[in-house]
Amino acid sequence: MQNFYVRTLLIAAALSLGLLSLQAQASGQPLDEGWQYRWGDSPFNADGVPAWTDDPADSSEWQAIDFPSNPPDRDGQTNVWYRVTLPADEWRDPILYIYSVDLITEVYLEGEQIYHYGAFDEQGQGSFEGWPWHMVPLPEGYSGKTLYFRIFSSYSDIGLWGEVRLNSRQDQILTLLIDSADALAASAFSLIIAVLALFFALIETQRRTFVSVGLFSLASALMVTAESPASLLLLYQPIVWDYVAAGAYFTLPVAIALLLEQWLPESRIGLIRKLWQGHVLYVIGALGLSLLGVIILPSAFYVFDYLLLATLTLLFVLVAPNLRRVSREQQAVIATFALYSALLIIDMAVAHGFLPWNRTPLSWGGLAFSLVISLVSLRQYHQTRQELYALNQQLELRVDERTRKLETLADEERLRTRILSYEHEKTLLLNDMVTRLHASQSLEQGFDNLAADLPAYTRPLVGALYRRLNTKPVFTLLSQWGEHGLELPETWSGSDFPGISASAYLDPMSQARVDLDGYPYWVFPITVEDVDRGSDVLGLLIIALPELVAEGERRSGRGHLFQSVRQAMDKVGVVLSSLILRQRLETLSYEDSLTGLKNRRYFNELYARESAIALRTQVPLSFIMVDLDHFKQFNDQYGHQAGDEALRLVADTMRIRFRETDVVCRYGGEEFIAILPGASSADAEALAGEIRIAVNQVPIFHENRNLGHLTLSAGIATWPEHCTDPDKLLVLADNALYLAKDSGRNRVCTPARPAHSTAPSPAN
Ligand code: GH3
Ligand code: MG
Ligand code: MG
Repeated sequence: MQNFYVRTLLIAAALSLGLLSLQAQASGQPLDEGWQYRWGDSPFNADGVPAWTDDPADSSEWQAIDFPSNPPDRDGQTNVWYRVTLPADEWRDPILYIYSVDLITEVYLEGEQIYHYGAFDEQGQGSFEGWPWHMVPLPEGYSGKTLYFRIFSSYSDIGLWGEVRLNSRQDQILTLLIDSADALAASAFSLIIAVLALFFALIETQRRTFVSVGLFSLASALMVTAESPASLLLLYQPIVWDYVAAGAYFTLPVAIALLLEQWLPESRIGLIRKLWQGHVLYVIGALGLSLLGVIILPSAFYVFDYLLLATLTLLFVLVAPNLRRVSREQQAVIATFALYSALLIIDMAVAHGFLPWNRTPLSWGGLAFSLVISLVSLRQYHQTRQELYALNQQLELRVDERTRKLETLADEERLRTRILSYEHEKTLLLNDMVTRLHASQSLEQGFDNLAADLPAYTRPLVGALYRRLNTKPVFTLLSQWGEHGLELPETWSGSDFPGISASAYLDPMSQARVDLDGYPYWVFPITVEDVDRGSDVLGLLIIALPELVAEGERRSGRGHLFQSVRQAMDKVGVVLSSLILRQRLETLSYEDSLTGLKNRRYFNELYARESAIALRTQVPLSFIMVDLDHFKQFNDQYGHQAGDEALRLVADTMRIRFRETDVVCRYGGEEFIAILPGASSADAEALAGEIRIAVNQVPIFHENRNLGHLTLSAGIATWPEHCTDPDKLLVLADNALYLAKDSGRNRVCTPARPAHSTAPSPAN
């Protein structure tokens, strides 16, 4: 768009320069000698011939003047006559060319009116009808004759104005055309600038600059066109052209002020605004009043000239201090403005007669001004466009960034929500898992439950559960779940997993990362608190992270997930610890702490179970009841500690002699009872005998003293040999024991039975 603008400007400039090279050859002959004037108006005779034209030779009332304009001693008079003797006739189709007349005129030659402009009334007055140039046609043979001008002017100037020249009509018209050429070129150029600028003002930013450039160029173009002599050749409407010229001329300061306003500091803008607003009012007021006939248009020009002078001066005062501050381009604009103002002032000075008449190249000043501000505003426009473009790109970048950030935030939020609902679901599952774990009867069952529940808890994660079976850090695979298509080792110790040391997974606080076939696994230890062993890693939960977590890995996702899994495993560890403790307590409560044998409570439970099994399976069940002989005595003699030692010794002696299926219990004090499933009375008797002899033969050492040996008595009972109901076995065995004691101790007895009673067997 701006290229088009610049190209058009350049073409127009070239055309204008071409036209400018047509320099007008001054043709014709200036009529600048022999002028006379006479104030007042001539009476007219009956034929309508003015009396003052009667006698050209009579010069009593006429006075000489250099140029027929503004004779001295006007004294408010509105009528004057001029006359001049015409030189030799040398033209074809001769005319008298007059640049301008203030204000209306009639031209007489030999008492005959040959030309008039405007209409005189009875009083010799008339109204303003414009400021055209005039071509007064001269009849043949005018040479040496006197030409009279009757003039009326209510304006400050009265008379002819500019140049007065004798010429042939054709030559004069050509001269007018050539004289107008540069003005028309300049105004055409200005018009193009105006149209483009106004067009730009419609579609672009910087509207204000373009509007003021457009306004100035338009005003300048119209003014120059209206004032150029050729305009009347186009359209002979002098008063219309004058109004156009006035409107345009009066608008100039508005456009100039609007332009400069943009480059002035804030503090001055108010003043400059008032200035152009005042001028707008003047345009409207002056033209309006003239059209209404309240004033005459020339007076509006007259007053405006002084107003313009004041305005230009004021603008200078405002602009000059900012000259240093503003950019080079603006300096160029201000310089052109100064040049144009100077031309305006010169033109004004000529108009007001302060300078001799001359044609001021106002059009070129205006054009230069238009051109410079056009180029400057184009440059500015270009810069603004570039800045806008850069800004736009920056904005786009920022928007992109913001969008990305928002998307990331949304992603994170989605992920967070997913993790939250995931966690909620998992919390419920964890609670179930822990409840079931609590209800486990043993550590074994606990791990079985874990293996069953963990897949649901860790889903969709891929995982496996390992358990340590003995005290060595070797783990055995209990179960594995999820589709990872990966063969996990059945057992592994720390060194089996590359990049993970035993201490890493044995550290309860760590999740060690393990890479298997490039697939990352995380190892969560299941740690229990053991009374004897302290913190002990009993199991390992191994988890692989599919996309769900890989996606959130960057952010809190993984940390979050790991934290909850770790907490879950901590909980599992605590529950397993309580299982272990319970198991330990149970063992303790069935065990006799002194001898390590089962205690009486255990015996009671076992008795009930074994009785039931014996009845169901019809397999014999035997009891051996043992009591140490004279143990009180032993205690008294050697002390209680020695007694304890003796009890331990007897217990060990007994234990090693029983089968794995047999259970020996300490029934109380120095009494023991053994349950022998599947043993007949004879088996039991034989075993009891063996024990009796072994105890007899084992010396008791205490504090390096040999305390001799102890003896024992034993009673035996067997189902179904001795009774029909296994429940009776204890009583029968006890009876048998009493029998042994009664029979002299250190012997084994079976119950006495009516049918086939067995005699107590003596000790040997
Ligand atoms: P009898 O041959 O008739 O069985 O005589 P006895 O002395 O063994 O029988 P009694 O029942 O009168 O005494 C049992 C003694 O066993 C009493 C007690 O001093 C002792 N005793 C019981 N329990 C323990 C124990 O745990 N340690 C020790 N050192 N002695 C115990
Ligand atoms: Mg006893
Ligand atoms: Mg005893």
